[in-house]
Amino acid sequence: MSIADNLERIRRELPAGVRLVAVSKFHPAPTVREAYDAGQRIFGESRVQELTAKQPLLPADIEWHFVGTLQTNKVKYIAPFIHTIQSVDSPSLLKEIDRRAALCHRQIRVLLEIHIAKEQTKHGFAPEECRQLLQSHPDKAYPNVCIAGLMGMATFTDDREQVRREFTTLRTLFDEARTLLPTDTAFTELSMGMSDDYHTAIACGSTMVRIGTAIFGNRS
Ligand SMILES: *Cc1c(COP(=O)(O)O)cnc(C)c1O
Repeated sequence: MSIADNLERIRRELPAGVRLVAVSKFHPAPTVREAYDAGQRIFGESRVQELTAKQPLLPADIEWHFVGTLQTNKVKYIAPFIHTIQSVDSPSLLKEIDRRAALCHRQIRVLLEIHIAKEQTKHGFAPEECRQLLQSHPDKAYPNVCIAGLMGMATFTDDREQVRREFTTLRTLFDEARTLLPTDTAFTELSMGMSDDYHTAIACGSTMVRIGTAIFGNRS
């Protein structure tokens, strides 16, 4: 199956209102270009150095999403062009994104990453930390950041029920978070679901799936 075939098959499976991030990490620019030529415009990357090398080689209308662990000292490299940083896992990172966005005279859209998996290696805010942050008027504390929703990764397991429980936990937190915010909020995105679990994530209310392997094949 070609990249175009994979994209077409996945797109047919997505309900209206669920957007697709093609996670292109570890794949070279010509491979990303193939997906672009098949109509894909939103791409996800997880390493700053790789993203900053690829971005100038590819069309300017790509919406780049950062999905990996982001060190505060690297925000400056992606701040000029990044569309959404999905992996914000601390107030200090939020503060640095705000500072760098201001220096670039732009606002940067972010999602708060929530720790829902069993693995301790995964990152993210605890649900209670997320509630506290959203109640502390982040629009005033971080005026150059737009907090647009939540992101989460389920445990890597064959246990479908566990994955479903974790996604449901995230969906419930997302619905609760929206009640804590003004009604005109831009807080609308719930990013959950990867190649192995996106059907479950969609059933649990995902608005955005992040798919790599099922589009591009295995990463070397
Ligand atoms: C790599 C990655 C993905 C895509 O994973 P696949 O299993 O290849 O679909 C999605 N989200 C994040 C945060 C990732 O790091």
